[in-house]
Amino acid sequence: MAVPKAAAKPGANPLDTAIAQFERAADRLNLDPGLRQVLGTCKRELTTHFPVQMDDGSTKVFTGYRVQHNLARGPAKGGIRYHPAVGLDEVRALAMWMTWKSALVNVPYGGAKGGVIVDPKALSETELENLTRRYATEISIVIDPIRDIPAPDVGTDERVMAWIMDTISMHRGYTVAGVVTGKPVSVGGTLGRKEATGRGILYLIQELTRDHGIPLEGATVAVQGFGNVGGVAATLLAREGARVVGVSDTSGCLYNEKGLDVETLWQGKKEGASLSELGGGDCLGGDELLSLPVDFLIPAALEGQITAQTARNIQAKFVIEGANGPTTPDGDAVLAEKQVLVVPDILANAGGVIVSYFEWVQDLQFFFWEEKQVCEQLQRVITSALREVRARAEQENVSLREAAMLIAVSRVEEATRLRGIYP
Ligand code: NAD
Repeated sequence: MAVPKAAAKPGANPLDTAIAQFERAADRLNLDPGLRQVLGTCKRELTTHFPVQMDDGSTKVFTGYRVQHNLARGPAKGGIRYHPAVGLDEVRALAMWMTWKSALVNVPYGGAKGGVIVDPKALSETELENLTRRYATEISIVIDPIRDIPAPDVGTDERVMAWIMDTISMHRGYTVAGVVTGKPVSVGGTLGRKEATGRGILYLIQELTRDHGIPLEGATVAVQGFGNVGGVAATLLAREGARVVGVSDTSGCLYNEKGLDVETLWQGKKEGASLSELGGGDCLGGDELLSLPVDFLIPAALEGQITAQTARNIQAKFVIEGANGPTTPDGDAVLAEKQVLVVPDILANAGGVIVSYFEWVQDLQFFFWEEKQVCEQLQRVITSALREVRARAEQENVSLREAAMLIAVSRVEEATRLRGIYP
């Protein structure tokens, strides 16, 4: 099955998007010019070029980053991305969004992000482990359970987190479980972390369907990016009776008006197959997935997918941003004009950081929770954040994104101001 893929949209620099969103909130909050500069800049940026021994005996140099945006509310927190298109501006934008996200859901973290320019699928398991352990060593000068705590993102998973945790632990001479989250449960991970971001999306959609009087049973869903976030969200939504009609990954898009067998597709993906190999629906081209006539569209792949151009064709009633930064400011304006309700990334995908926080707390206390407790607490935190954002949006007559940013930026501004400038 020949299936085209949706590439990242050219010209959509994620940092431009992140800064534009911040400036808008800063204007509305009438932020002090000095604090505006502080919050609009990443605090610490580590770039590292490091060698990795490849299976054929050769040495290859890779480039990686770890960026911390703001630490006023607590240690830095954010994922690590392995992708060929990773760049410093992208990592900066992702770090900034992590600051706002943590503040919005009120977990005591600042924002960070890391990345390595690599296609992880092109490496053997040994090469991937070598690269991960060396990158972990390079960033070990900034990561620590009380300083900066990485987690999985695109192209990394719990296996990579276990290697990072083990590398740091080897350096220290004792197990440092709390240095990363998203680890396997057997090495200090939490129950419910792997599914947390997708589960958070389910809880938000359940809340929205209740509020808008739409039955979830039979509601139609399309998911761009059938990975950790999108695959889990689609599976959990299908279990609740939603009809997932379209899903995509880098191999292509599948569509079935009657509903795809998401459970089987997700099982196949977890076993390493791509959607184009799995089949089970018609193939769609490029951006078509984004323009399906559905109730809920969940962009859960990469940044910059919903531009002014693609937004014009969107027919969904709700866009739930599973990915970070999937909508450009121009795209946002078009969606607002069309009265599409957008649940912004810093709220929609916050399930990951919320349960990462629970994992970290469990690691620091050496006391582990039952999955039921993790899910209940996740639901409580994410739905109360949604209610708070909706109330602020109504109060100020702004979009959910602007309301979320106003809440988040105010909290970070307050912490930064109260701590003061040292010395
Ligand atoms: P992942 O690597 O598990 O999955 C990404 C999926 O997107 C893959 O299936 C890939 O094939 C697909 N994809 C990539 N480019 C695509 C394109 N142009 N069109 C269609 N599909 C494409 O990554 P993930 O962890 O699910 O992360 C996805 C997004 O969610 C990222 O923006 C990430 O920053 C964000 N996010 C992840 C988490 C988490 O807990 N993993 C938490 C919050 C936010």
